[in-house]
Amino acid sequence: MTDAPLKLFNSLTRSLEVFEPVHPGEARVYSCGPTVYNYQHIGNMRAYVFADTLGRTLQWKGYKLTHVVNITDVGHLTSDADEGEDKMEKMAAREGKSAWDIARFYQADFEADLARLNVQPKQHPRATEYVDAMIAWGKGIADKHCYELESGLYFDVSTVADYGRLARAVTEDGEGRIESVEGKRNAADFAIWRRTPAGETRQMEWDSPWGRGAPGWHLECSVMGEALLGFPFDIHTGGIDHREIHHPNEIAQNQAFCCTNGLDDPRNSGAKIWMHNNFLVERSGKMSKSSGEFLRLQLLVDRGYHPLAYRLMCLQAHYRSELEFSWEGLGAALTRLKRMYKAVAVQLSRQFEEAGEPVEPTSVFLPIPREQWSEADETGVLRDFDEAISDDLNTAKCLPLLEEVLGDKFISHPMRWHLIATIDQVLGLDLLKVRRADLRIRPKAAGLTEAEIEVALARRKEARAAKDFAASDAIRDELGAAGVEVMDGDPLGWEWKLG
Ligand code: AMP
Ligand code: ZN
Repeated sequence: MTDAPLKLFNSLTRSLEVFEPVHPGEARVYSCGPTVYNYQHIGNMRAYVFADTLGRTLQWKGYKLTHVVNITDVGHLTSDADEGEDKMEKMAAREGKSAWDIARFYQADFEADLARLNVQPKQHPRATEYVDAMIAWGKGIADKHCYELESGLYFDVSTVADYGRLARAVTEDGEGRIESVEGKRNAADFAIWRRTPAGETRQMEWDSPWGRGAPGWHLECSVMGEALLGFPFDIHTGGIDHREIHHPNEIAQNQAFCCTNGLDDPRNSGAKIWMHNNFLVERSGKMSKSSGEFLRLQLLVDRGYHPLAYRLMCLQAHYRSELEFSWEGLGAALTRLKRMYKAVAVQLSRQFEEAGEPVEPTSVFLPIPREQWSEADETGVLRDFDEAISDDLNTAKCLPLLEEVLGDKFISHPMRWHLIATIDQVLGLDLLKVRRADLRIRPKAAGLTEAEIEVALARRKEARAAKDFAASDAIRDELGAAGVEVMDGDPLGWEWKLG
């Protein structure tokens, strides 16, 4: 089997490019991480499912992966264009906690959500750990590229070539930038360092050559990317909103740092390829963190949806397409997931019958090493999968291939497991670990315990066996009133579900 070339869409050139690593055999990726002033909503989590799929694909292609997802615990203002209040300090004031405590709490929650979505562990450097490096960076570029105002040190975007190329439409008055900082030379100029106003103190502030204050948000990603991955590294990712302001500003800083100009050679931007996931959208505004109960992973779980149903929902769409969230859509993804786990369960029990003892699939059925793919790929599914995932991560096309393997009676037992394990390395649906029963999550609002439901269903079975249909219907109605839908003859073998 010959590998398909890995093609990825580079936002900087707006074209598909064949991935050629900067360092042979290695892939170094930086993904803009969360601002930890609040819970992440599921739209944010789409960005990390995408980044994870990219990382897993690079590993599938045989590269040794180094992947950084930073934690923004200082510096991000309520508007990306450097205006408004500091998000961390604002939340700290609202919750009556220190900004440091807020950051630790929401970082832990973020990491727990990543684990629930089966996102592989990555490096999570915190911005506050890199403030010295940010000051050193600022000193290095200040003379040629920056100017000081009362409120801090600003980057003059006219000092680098091709400023804003990534956004494709930067003009003086474009992008809705409001020039609220008096004295800025260009509307798009942004803060490298924000001086604490006289007479005020911030919870998070440091001494610098430009006074006591805090770094500008864009600086941290330039500094941590360079420190942990070296310039140029291979791929920089983020949500599509970052294509407009944050990433053009990061690129300008990187150009200034490298003393190079011009983005005709993308490497001068600090990374060879810039990739952006499109948004998850929701019509009623529940994605907004200011909307009270907003859509976060825990809310999905509270309503009885397994987190991996959300991962599958993301994989069903191409990362560059907008994805509309709906509970029906999530329900459909959960049903699809149930089908997959059911296929696994059926085969496990067959295997159990044959072997006469329980089979632990993860310990026995290991992924096929790359060197053996050709030999193992009798049906051609690995080749097809490789082609689809190498085509700018076409996960939507990969899923039916997985389903083919799950349902193909002609693939022999051990080989089928090996193939599933191999493919799931990229999709991350945890098919050999998650059990069918794990998918049944009790919604928080459910009135009955699982044991109570089972008892009622057993009574109903007895009534039906005795042909007492009035009694059986009555039990069904009682369960219905408690939010439990009885599903007679469900092809997936689920006898009930919580509505
Ligand atoms: P933030 O914590 O606001 O810096 O956002 C974290 C990541 O989520 C960034 O990469 C954003 O671009 C991304 N993001 C924000 N909203 C959405 C959304 N609705 N859909 C997909 N990605 C998003
Ligand atoms: Zn960033």
